[in-house]
Amino acid sequence: MEVQTLKYPAIRNYVAGQSVEDASTATMDVFSPLSGALISTVPLSGAAALDAAVTAAKAAFPEWSATPIKERVQIFYRYKTLLERDMKALADLVREENGKTFDEARAEVEKAIELTEFACSMPQLIAGEVLEVSKGVEARVERKPLGVVASIAPFNFPNMVPHWTIPNAIVLGNTMVLKPSEQVPLSAVKIAELLKEAGLPAGVLNIVNGDKTIVEAICDHPDIQAVSFVGSTKIAKVVYIRATSNLKRCVALGGAKNHLMVLPDAHPDMTASNVAASMSGCAGQRCMAGSTMVGVGAVDHIVAKLVEEARKIIPGENLGSVISREAKERIEQHIAEAEAAGAKVLLDGRGAVVPGHEDGYYVGPTVIDYVTPDMRIAKEEVFGPVLAIMRTDTLDEALAIENASNYGNAAAVFTQSGSHARYVMDNASAGMIGVNIGVPVPREPFSFGGWNESKFGACDITGKSSIEFWTQLKKTTVKWNPESRVNWMS
Ligand code: NAD
Repeated sequence: MEVQTLKYPAIRNYVAGQSVEDASTATMDVFSPLSGALISTVPLSGAAALDAAVTAAKAAFPEWSATPIKERVQIFYRYKTLLERDMKALADLVREENGKTFDEARAEVEKAIELTEFACSMPQLIAGEVLEVSKGVEARVERKPLGVVASIAPFNFPNMVPHWTIPNAIVLGNTMVLKPSEQVPLSAVKIAELLKEAGLPAGVLNIVNGDKTIVEAICDHPDIQAVSFVGSTKIAKVVYIRATSNLKRCVALGGAKNHLMVLPDAHPDMTASNVAASMSGCAGQRCMAGSTMVGVGAVDHIVAKLVEEARKIIPGENLGSVISREAKERIEQHIAEAEAAGAKVLLDGRGAVVPGHEDGYYVGPTVIDYVTPDMRIAKEEVFGPVLAIMRTDTLDEALAIENASNYGNAAAVFTQSGSHARYVMDNASAGMIGVNIGVPVPREPFSFGGWNESKFGACDITGKSSIEFWTQLKKTTVKWNPESRVNWMS
């Protein structure tokens, strides 16, 4: 029988600093969406594999949490240089498993470096507080880690999203179990290898692969203190409810439907190129993608330029693939439905084929005008390079459409009027707002997180807000001088 050799070795779990095979479980095939080729396999591990990983993380916690934070960050300083050294290899992996263009994949690794830099600044950010609260009595507040924490990731940023959580949570003294998306499990293997090379002690980071079963086991495991999740709203809700009902901390980021409001006074070229890039970057598979434009008043000249810009986006050249055959079919179905419902398809990306990669999963840039708020494409996350344009007469009507969305990740306004921009900043119901910026991702030290059904939980997942999530406060009251007068609290 012919044995097929895969481009990448079968993915294994990573426990206590070792790559370990989970022979007890089924595996899933991993395909490259660029070509449709089978490139690896991933184990769909269960509760026993999770338990081994949690046991390793629990064993590593006492020593790791007792290591001074200034020593903990030294490992991440070294790690940052390794990310820089291996930038190309890391970007190649992202490209191969996720389907991005090389430039997009490299940008993802650059963001991982920025996230690592932020974690290295933690000693400066988390110094505690001390105050003499009564004569001779001192109160101190210190930030302490939680223990073993878990991070569950989606397919669309195989390198960046794990870096939303790994550096901050670990630098702050926690030990972690990471569950990558089973669709893109390759990058995490390399991340673990580089952290080991940087000197991260065994057991501080562990990786367990799998799907629903392992996520449910994470939510139920009694020794996991906190769960972070990034993925679709449907699953974010399930994870948030299950983890918090098991008395864990949880922040669960969900899907998005981001509105870009375009006013007639907007700079036409800048707006057209920004909107086109926002809807098509990473093939529209970003929770920050501007998938909906609301044109306010006379904006035909901007729509015309936008279509011109979108025509320059070529699948296989400056546009990557979508993640799977099912995703391609779902996106094309959205386009067909909108057209059948009366919207006007100005640019149609259905049936895109890249010569030499006929089995890859490509959808070309698509612009659909005269979408109405009741259409499915106006309400649901499409997660492809598709822009649905709605038209209104006033900014208040545009904001009403934005406010009516269940989601609330990002919103943006394109205008040269400061007062209109301010009005949108004040009245859009979203956690991240752009003014003349189509993808308003807050950069470190600011935190990332949406509103409404785009995020469940009190904290954001990155930046300063994540410090709150990954730590708990220890308040100590100290009295050393026996001469001090005894009062009500000493
Ligand atoms: P997904 O919800 O299908 O999967 C996310 C994770 O949940 C994966 O690790 C997966 O294995 C697991 N999972 C899948 N089904 C499950 C189930 N029934 N029970 C428990 N766990 C399950 O999301 P995806 O398709 O990998 O990623 C795309 C989605 O992620 C989009 O909706 C996108 O908007 C969202 N996303 C949001 C953000 C954000 O910051 N808000 C960032 C990136 C991606």
